[in-house]
Amino acid sequence: MGLRAAGATRGNQRLSANLRELHPSLYPAAAYLYGIARSYGAHITSVYRTRQEQTQLYAACGDGRCLYPVAPPGHSRHEQRRAFDLVAHPLILRGLGRLWESMGGTWGGRFGDPIHFEA
Ligand SMILES: [Zn+2]
Repeated sequence: MGLRAAGATRGNQRLSANLRELHPSLYPAAAYLYGIARSYGAHITSVYRTRQEQTQLYAACGDGRCLYPVAPPGHSRHEQRRAFDLVAHPLILRGLGRLWESMGGTWGGRFGDPIHFEA
């Protein structure tokens, strides 16, 4: 299966940041992107979130209370192991977003969440 199927901490939540937590079908593409991203100083801030973590994050950051948007519990690709957040300079994120899209992924910069990459 390709990528067609579909940060920084937000608030004070501790979120895991290991790409191995992604769905195995996404890991190679994500690792490739991160291999490039890290050379530009990017770092991963969030990968998989449990429903409880998403609930806590949404409570802290829902309705635009934090820098980046947070989906309601049950509606985040992070809960499905299909998303990760990468923090970098905005221009770097734009380039990474285009690369991710060229690989078939969806970049959150298209909907106000430039650190978010999903598939
Ligand atoms: Zn995200």
